[in-house]
Amino acid sequence: MSPAPAPEVDVAVVGSGPNGLAAAVTLARAGLRVQVLEAQETIGGGARTLDLGLAPGIVHDICSAAHPLALASPFFEAFDVRARGVRAIAPAASYAQPLDDQPAVIAWHDAERTAEELGADGPAWRATIGALARHEDLVVELALGDKRSVQPALLSPRILGAAPLFGALTGLQGSPAWNLPFRTERARALLGGVAAHAIGPMPSLALSATAALLSTIGHGTGWPIPVGGSQAITDALVADLRAHGGQILTGHHVRTWRDVPPARAVLLDTPAGAAADILSNRLPSGLERALRRFPHGDAAAKVDFVLSGPVPWRDAEVGEAGTQHLGGTRAQMARAEAQVAAGRVPEHPVTLVSDPSVADPSRIHGGLRPLWAYAHVPAGDTTDPTELVTRQIERFAPGFRDLVVAAQGIPAAEMPAHNPSLVGGDISMGRVTMAGMIARPTARLDPYRLAETGWYLCSSATPPGPGVHGMSGWHAARRVLRREFGIREMPDLSPGAAGTPPGADARD
Ligand SMILES: Cc1cc2nc3c(=O)[nH]c(=O)nc-3n(C[C@H](O)[C@H](O)[C@H](O)COP(=O)(O)OP(=O)(O)OC[C@H]3O[C@@H](n4cnc5c(N)ncnc54)[C@H](O)[C@@H]3O)c2cc1C
Repeated sequence: MSPAPAPEVDVAVVGSGPNGLAAAVTLARAGLRVQVLEAQETIGGGARTLDLGLAPGIVHDICSAAHPLALASPFFEAFDVRARGVRAIAPAASYAQPLDDQPAVIAWHDAERTAEELGADGPAWRATIGALARHEDLVVELALGDKRSVQPALLSPRILGAAPLFGALTGLQGSPAWNLPFRTERARALLGGVAAHAIGPMPSLALSATAALLSTIGHGTGWPIPVGGSQAITDALVADLRAHGGQILTGHHVRTWRDVPPARAVLLDTPAGAAADILSNRLPSGLERALRRFPHGDAAAKVDFVLSGPVPWRDAEVGEAGTQHLGGTRAQMARAEAQVAAGRVPEHPVTLVSDPSVADPSRIHGGLRPLWAYAHVPAGDTTDPTELVTRQIERFAPGFRDLVVAAQGIPAAEMPAHNPSLVGGDISMGRVTMAGMIARPTARLDPYRLAETGWYLCSSATPPGPGVHGMSGWHAARRVLRREFGIREMPDLSPGAAGTPPGADARD
């Protein structure tokens, strides 16, 4: 290797997803010169809202749409995303689970209303999800931490109530005893739909932890939808980064370390396998092999619709939720997820749906509205999901098909075309397992630092895993500051922080 030229920037960040930008903002705020290199022509990775050319004025969230994690995340709280003009509106119902032969089950933002409607399972819901929601801050700290350090919030005496309850619910729901503590199929289906966000066989501890976290937030912060789309979150990060001297280079796909400018530190917002490719032969062979072996999860196949009216849900209350989980009962969803794991496309795949105009009517233009949906399918599947998803929505909303003005389906195998990190359609940058939540992508004390001097992984391939929360980027940035630059104190990220240049809190 030739001697490194003098650094042109202090830090290079490869990838402008929420984690890459969270890291970049944190490091720029610490006074470092930061450059972000993005493969795509558009910035934001999993938090982008684009005009797909399907109908005039209609924009689509090509990946994330609902933001329980972003609005509850400690990183975004420190960044104060709301104070930067991002308006995120929590619908009256966080999520809904329509069923075939009976009324839908709804998780209202209001825990008490949800419990009341659950009838026989009302007391169990109150005692578990309802109780956890009162400690949302602690549950979020627990779940979104780096699993290696104890945040001051976790020293609160309230942790003695929240942590065992979170652990017990996760343990029960993720085990063969998953009928406990809920007695009715309705409550089980409601929680099962949330669990399925993590994509994988049910029951599993990783899926039940996901359900415990997201359902807790469902009664606390809610499941907000940003006005204008997920891009609003990205735009706020980009504005702050630029205001602190950061640069973003788009259309720059980093395939090897030679594609990265000389820098004292490099953070990769990429899957583990891509990190191994970029640093090929520069990592200890054991680590390189382990990064390549980190398994990808099953996939999502996306459909963006344009509709001439609201989805005609058989049960009208379903339409009050920002997100619908389509899969029927928990047993039906478990069957569909098992088929996916076995490499088969289910006839009725677990499908997630969101009409952003439920919270944000500004998304409607000329009477038309976008509808976001994706179905769980095997990794690398090549089926166009449009008909599959249309049928699944029709199952719970007869007449839906007649409202479809335009649709664009993306098979799992083609998802990487708009984000190289979505390998085979895996939206989680690696299978979500309980062990993996702690030891993503490899079982090391510091999962962020790669063995090559100055190189780090900051993507959702590291703890705490998938979702728009910026926490992987924040955790990685903390290590970079301390280890590479000797800076022990994290910078103040708030819009009004001393030294914040004018305009840092303005949207682009
Ligand atoms: C269809 C779909 C729906 C989702 N829905 C939700 C949701 O509603 N709520 C939620 O919280 N989460 C959702 N997610 C998950 C969420 O989007 C991701 O977990 C999150 O974006 C991960 O952030 P990240 O920064 O780690 O990676 P990403 O957001 O994937 O960003 C990675 C970035 O790096 C770039 N990149 C990768 N490799 C290279 C390279 N070699 N050179 C240069 N650039 C590179 C990519 O182009 C991309 O911009 C969804 C994901 C998908 C795909």
